[in-house]
Amino acid sequence: MQFVSTRGGSDPVGFQEAFARGLAPDGGLYVPKNLPLLPSDLLIDDALPYPALAWDILGLFDDDHDTDHLVEIVDKSYGDFSDTMSAPLTQLAENLFILELFHGPTLAFKDFGLQLVGNLFEEQIERTGETINVLGATSGDTGSAAIHGLAGKKGVNVFILYPKGRISDLQERQMTCTDADNIFPIPIDGTFDDAQEIVKELMGDLETKEKLRLSAVNSINIVRVLAQAVYYVHAYMQLPPESRDDVNFVVPTGNFGNIFAGWMVHQMGLPVDRFVVATNQNDILYRLFNTGKYESGEVRPSRAPSMDIQVASNFERFLYYHNEKNADATLAQMAEFISKGSIEIPNFNASNFTATHSSDEDIIRNIQKIKEEYDYVVDPHTACGFQDIDPDVTTIVLATAHPAKFPDTIKKAIGEEVTDESLDRLKKKKKKTFAVDANAAAVKAFIEKNSA
Ligand SMILES: *Cc1c(COP(=O)(O)O)cnc(C)c1O
Repeated sequence: MQFVSTRGGSDPVGFQEAFARGLAPDGGLYVPKNLPLLPSDLLIDDALPYPALAWDILGLFDDDHDTDHLVEIVDKSYGDFSDTMSAPLTQLAENLFILELFHGPTLAFKDFGLQLVGNLFEEQIERTGETINVLGATSGDTGSAAIHGLAGKKGVNVFILYPKGRISDLQERQMTCTDADNIFPIPIDGTFDDAQEIVKELMGDLETKEKLRLSAVNSINIVRVLAQAVYYVHAYMQLPPESRDDVNFVVPTGNFGNIFAGWMVHQMGLPVDRFVVATNQNDILYRLFNTGKYESGEVRPSRAPSMDIQVASNFERFLYYHNEKNADATLAQMAEFISKGSIEIPNFNASNFTATHSSDEDIIRNIQKIKEEYDYVVDPHTACGFQDIDPDVTTIVLATAHPAKFPDTIKKAIGEEVTDESLDRLKKKKKKTFAVDANAAAVKAFIEKNSA
């Protein structure tokens, strides 16, 4: 499979190259040149274990690794998930199901993409013999999932910047208590944007990037999207056969990566009636799907922090398909959006999508309601998915994180704590961080000294 840029200014590349680059050189995002159809027997075999389903789907896009190799990489990626189903579907009510995506090492769905990314980097290092240094900035979840995808791997050191004192204690522990020698968590004096700015400066300086052999754990890497497509099929196959018509997927959404993965696999033949974009109070996407106007605003910190975004970076992929793969039109729209902060999208026909938004009060109320009605505790992100559900249609809500990651909000909502053994273990460990001044030159010198 070839991958092309949404902005049309870069040559098509294969799976491995699209993975290694992350962003296309023209600033666009890689998308599969054609969306293949799911093999016709895939939706018949109920008993397919998660890794087998993942090989079948990823194999449609990856011509670079031979099958045995891909099988090995996929097995390694999902073998450690605490629940052997990897993504179990739990029934809450007659028509209501929840897809638990929090059984990976950092208890959030980002592990599905980043475990695979970690193993693909490892394979790349073995094959090319070239060591790499991964550099990223995080406001919490992505950084810890990336660290757990790469901890202990040979030939790669990982440098993750985060704003000191501005992420939760548990998030910090997930990054700083790994016991791995190749992980360098760097708390920065400043905000997430300050950390991000340092990363951008170093990555944007091609000489430095080459000299330090820097790689990104990009939130827009196409491999993360492909990996996430798998669990939509897995969820569908766990539905009782009589519930498989007219299925709605509700997806707590920030950067539009997770829900785009579902939409993509729907285009490949997974029967889905509707995707519901569930946002928090940062509702740029809610407004888009209701008005056709895409307009960024100020980020307002919420109780579902991993969805606090101004711009949904993966939306560009959907826009490209909405434009019937017209890269010139997509380029023009993105240029307008970047310069003006808003665009009107003509004929915004998004018939497969609807959207909801939840305030912080809604989040608390939904956590309470679900606990009372179903004796089930959801995390604050997942709680956004329970806003305005239609009880008459089969609905699968994606549970994007484990509630134990957000003890304060859970306590406030239901007056009790939810715990998880792996998080409790972290609380007993010592944090290991590295003090570096908050500027690009200091971070560069630190990476030089601690390079893989
Ligand atoms: C990242 C994240 C989201 C948002 O996912 P997108 O792919 O950015 O839309 C939702 N919930 C949790 C817990 C997350 O970590």
